[in-house]
Amino acid sequence: MSYLSTQLIRWHKQFGRKDLPWQIDTNPYKVWISEVMLQQTQVQTVIPYFLKFIKRYPDIDSLANSNENEVLSYWSGLGYYSRGRNLLKTAKIIQEEFDSSMPSCSEKLESFPGIGKSTAGAILSLGFKMKAPILDGNAKRVLVRYFKVEDPIDLNKTTKQLWNIAEENLPNKECNVYTQAIMDVGSLICKRRNPDCIECPLKKKCISFNEKIQNLLPNKSPKKEKPIRQLYWLLLQNKHGEVLLENRNSKGVWEGLWTFIGFEEPISRENFQDRLPKGYELLEEGLKLRHTFTHYKLDIDTTLIKINKDFQDLDNNKVWFNTEELSGIGLPSPVSKILKTFI
Ligand code: SF4
Repeated sequence: MSYLSTQLIRWHKQFGRKDLPWQIDTNPYKVWISEVMLQQTQVQTVIPYFLKFIKRYPDIDSLANSNENEVLSYWSGLGYYSRGRNLLKTAKIIQEEFDSSMPSCSEKLESFPGIGKSTAGAILSLGFKMKAPILDGNAKRVLVRYFKVEDPIDLNKTTKQLWNIAEENLPNKECNVYTQAIMDVGSLICKRRNPDCIECPLKKKCISFNEKIQNLLPNKSPKKEKPIRQLYWLLLQNKHGEVLLENRNSKGVWEGLWTFIGFEEPISRENFQDRLPKGYELLEEGLKLRHTFTHYKLDIDTTLIKINKDFQDLDNNKVWFNTEELSGIGLPSPVSKILKTFI
């Protein structure tokens, strides 16, 4: 066994995390759900979402028999909603084609929506206790610093090199402990900023630490400035306290979720306002919010209006929701934020 894996396994037995909700009575299904939730999201944020999700969907069948709207309601606020949609799609495939059992084969796992090579590796290693590598953000950082990989980590050739390193260093036994250990060391010790090298079980042979360059790695290619897009929302509330939302059934951002009525131009919003019954009450105008996506920033300007007469001149994708119904549908976080503040 390599020094790296021996040290990590030894360290985990004494200091590693063993009581996260997905580690208790673990199985490949729980590992899959937790790994997908943990993509781009911190452990502490994921825990309450995971607990609620597993309570409602304890296995493949309960998830496969659900629908997108309900699954997304359990994802509300977690962001990157395609992850929730892909969980449902994958559960349906596993139910139909694999008799509701998660396959223990990386090729099959990687063919499912939303499961990449690292998630497949985690399912095999942590869920099935097989020998399989992972390369999530934490593992990547540990390997980059330990082996002093100086090329930018966003380049394909670096990713390929790191996968080779990850495979070469796998232990023959206790791969599940090793996988959890490298994730834990990455998130608790070999942190993005100010790694706690003195506490690290790898410090003796870590090249970056011994050359005192641990704070300089990993390298990334120079960043491009994110473009800013504009969106104009209209929040309509009726005399019963219901809120009008539209379903984003088109492909793209917030697909399948419910948002306020959106316009790309302020003039289109004004035209829509002209169609409202006369005598409405303007509650708030020009409320600004910025939401950052992976590839761009979205500046949202919201107008809130209360109407006292019936307004039914609506397309099929627009629905009035009362407060109780709002908690059972998928809402992007800027919509939830505005509703919490004003409704
Ligand atoms: S010694 Fe420091 S830089 Fe090296 S793996 Fe440990 S925490 Fe990371």
